Amino acid sequence: MQKKGRFSLKVCVMALAAVMALPSWAQDSHAADKHAAPITAPLVDLGAEHEKLVPKPPAADVHDEPKADTQAAAKPEKHEAHAVHWSYSGEGAPRFWGELAPEFSTCKTGRNQSPIDLRDARALGTQGLAGLDIAYRDSLLKIINNGHTVQVNFPLGSYIKVGGHRYELLQFHFHTPSEHFKEGFAYPMEMHLVHKDGDGNLAVLGILFQEGEENPYLNGILKRLPKEVGKEQLHDDFKLNPVNFLPGNTEFYKYSGSLTTPPCSEGVYWMVFKQPIEASARQIRQMNELMGENARPVQPLNSRDVLKSWMEPEIDNRLYEVY
Ligand SMILES: [Zn+2]
Repeated sequence: MQKKGRFSLKVCVMALAAVMALPSWAQDSHAADKHAAPITAPLVDLGAEHEKLVPKPPAADVHDEPKADTQAAAKPEKHEAHAVHWSYSGEGAPRFWGELAPEFSTCKTGRNQSPIDLRDARALGTQGLAGLDIAYRDSLLKIINNGHTVQVNFPLGSYIKVGGHRYELLQFHFHTPSEHFKEGFAYPMEMHLVHKDGDGNLAVLGILFQEGEENPYLNGILKRLPKEVGKEQLHDDFKLNPVNFLPGNTEFYKYSGSLTTPPCSEGVYWMVFKQPIEASARQIRQMNELMGENARPVQPLNSRDVLKSWMEPEIDNRLYEVY
């Protein structure tokens, strides 16, 4: 038996026509505020965790890619000067990331690194975990192959709210195989939706893919995969809404982690959906052929707790209530 507690997910798919509908935005934040319960248990206090997050320097606010729209000046000369080429194999492989450059040292010394192996029995069931509201808009496809992943960039306007705190969607991108494990196993693919709040704190939603039915929403991207590295392509004939990738069951794991690519900055708020979505073997292979293997190995949990947005009384012997 699963109890969802007070977790709620509200999906607002806003059409472009509604971009200027300020009253509905205002209503939206109202609704979210009502959901935000006062939090008193520091151990699992999401709000407290927000406060611990340290604003990151501009170079660290980009997840996975040197070309995100947030990237503060491309700094190509800096890149060349340092000649730091991280990758997923050979001399730039993940086990060497921490030594490739001083600014990557957290990859080696960090105690709150991502990804991790998510295990139900070790995670803490919760009641009243701060609600997750998702408000993504249709956007024209802006896609880039940055040499590490295929990434879709978003203009401001799509966001999530966690306990009433707003994070803007910057981009989503893919990993094959998955970076997070579940119960000791990798999935064939994972999607990361990267968000940032006004102070530069990152919140990432992880969606696991399993092999199955063809995913119609992925096809739009696959048809427009950029072969050329480092050039963003705008497809003004194709809109997409990332809400289409959310699983039917929106229960999620939550923990405090890091970027999964150099500089491995910590203080990233991770939420990984428990239920995988499907894509066909052909679709996953097509992504993998373009990106190669681009998953960082799982990292030690150390002293962290992983929370579940739901409760399983039969295995949750340590129950927390967050009110
Ligand atoms: Zn990622």
